[in-house]
Amino acid sequence: MPQNVRKVYIVCRRCKTRFAGDYCPYCGAEKGTPVALRSHGGLLSGLLRFLLSLALLAAILLITFIVLDYTASAEGDRHGAARAILDSARYAIPQSVLDYYAELKIQFLDSWIAAIKDFFVTVFG
Ligand SMILES: [Zn+2]
Repeated sequence: MPQNVRKVYIVCRRCKTRFAGDYCPYCGAEKGTPVALRSHGGLLSGLLRFLLSLALLAAILLITFIVLDYTASAEGDRHGAARAILDSARYAIPQSVLDYYAELKIQFLDSWIAAIKDFFVTVFG
């Protein structure tokens, strides 16, 4: 068998991986798959994805803030760290938002948290 037969490599049009064969081992694209999959949907879908990840991040931050808030205001001295994080977070949040949060807390959150606490007390003693 001759040694100098060069293998024919193909550069994947989607991910630029060099491969031999019919399918890209990296992204699974077929030899003839067109390039333009990434820009499919264009600017609008990119913007939408960006906004969705922002909203997700905001939701995670909000939940973290609420959990910290209720941990810090729980009885006992074990929660000094939570209180410290919360205090520094409060400096970064506008006062109007904090006021709104305090209102929401009185209207909804307190009863929800109480219900959740009751549930845990009933289940775990
Ligand atoms: Zn590929």
